[in-house]
Amino acid sequence: MSLRKISADYIFPISSPPIKNGVLIFDEKGKIVDLIDPTKTELNLEDVQLVIGLLCPGFVNTHCHLELSWMKDRIPEKTGLADFVVHIEKQKKLRNEDEVFEAIANADIEMRKNGIVAVGDISNTAYTFPAKAGSTIDYYTFIEVYGSMPWLADEKIEKALGIHQQLTEKYGLKGSISPHATYSVSEPLFLKIKAFAEKHQSILSIHHQESEAENHFFKDKSGWIIENMKKIGIDYSWFKATGKSPLESIAGMLPEENPILLVHNTFSTEENINFAQSYFENISWCLCPNANLYIENKLPDVQLFTRKNVRITLGTDSLASNRELSMLDEMKTLTGAFPEISLEEILKWGTLNGAEFLGLSHKYGSFEKGKTPGINLISLKDDPKIQLSKESKVKVIV
Ligand SMILES: [Zn+2]
Repeated sequence: MSLRKISADYIFPISSPPIKNGVLIFDEKGKIVDLIDPTKTELNLEDVQLVIGLLCPGFVNTHCHLELSWMKDRIPEKTGLADFVVHIEKQKKLRNEDEVFEAIANADIEMRKNGIVAVGDISNTAYTFPAKAGSTIDYYTFIEVYGSMPWLADEKIEKALGIHQQLTEKYGLKGSISPHATYSVSEPLFLKIKAFAEKHQSILSIHHQESEAENHFFKDKSGWIIENMKKIGIDYSWFKATGKSPLESIAGMLPEENPILLVHNTFSTEENINFAQSYFENISWCLCPNANLYIENKLPDVQLFTRKNVRITLGTDSLASNRELSMLDEMKTLTGAFPEISLEEILKWGTLNGAEFLGLSHKYGSFEKGKTPGINLISLKDDPKIQLSKESKVKVIV
């Protein structure tokens, strides 16, 4: 078997510190065979390819809605989540299936070109399944359920079970049934999702504190969520404000042991983080900075999350709320807004942390012998500080 050897200015194995002028050795399938630190091991450089930049493992995107790809450039920016939801609903009425399938196929190719190897993807329909089945990207699909009226719980879960069955049996893909958000699922529906998750030991994802209104909704049943829902005929008369945080209000309706991804967290406080970390066994916090800027024009308190030392992952969200599906672009936004966070840390969020959440760290997330994590080459700033610049680009090596 022929081996390839590449030396870059830096190699970021993620599971261990970066190596200056390191050499990465891998086979033709991209399986990591060895990682050489030139200060420790002598190596004949004759058959080593030299590249400029840093090498890191393939990216793991933990939050995407591939099925919304056709909405690219259709939703106005920075209008807030309330208006964003209204625009999405309007667009859905204009949906053309050919366009939907074409946009999904293109978005899948775009993600692979952008160095993404695995994706946690939200699906309300089966539109994305054929593309996922034929893709080189490893997808985990969260069949998303919402339904605020308790009397519709049976109908909602039955529909999701049907889609899940297609996903796993017809297409042979991995996935779970997941709740949309804290405020959009009734108690009986939450409990059905919980029972399914516990039975199948599945991984869950839920949108969390994406707008301030979510906090008001639970605190005193005020704000745009309740007003908008009433306008579109959703009956919330059964709902009583809890006076608590969103997650505290629904914690008993989620499984405690399953891996859970809280997505967005733009309005999460230290108290909210403390509660989640102590109540649940396996919580991850997904940040989607470019989507947050697109919709609410606000970023989460990222320094708070780093200080709390929680597992942070990154997501692109969908092309309805982002200009491209690029993890590197998410990292650039974070680097621009929080220059004190090291590149090593941000890369870990976009690789190993995501792989761990998705239960795929045996294969992805780091340069460790035996893994086939994908290999990305990233161009750096011409600067002694190893940092991303606006011009940084990603090139897929494997
Ligand atoms: Zn989302």
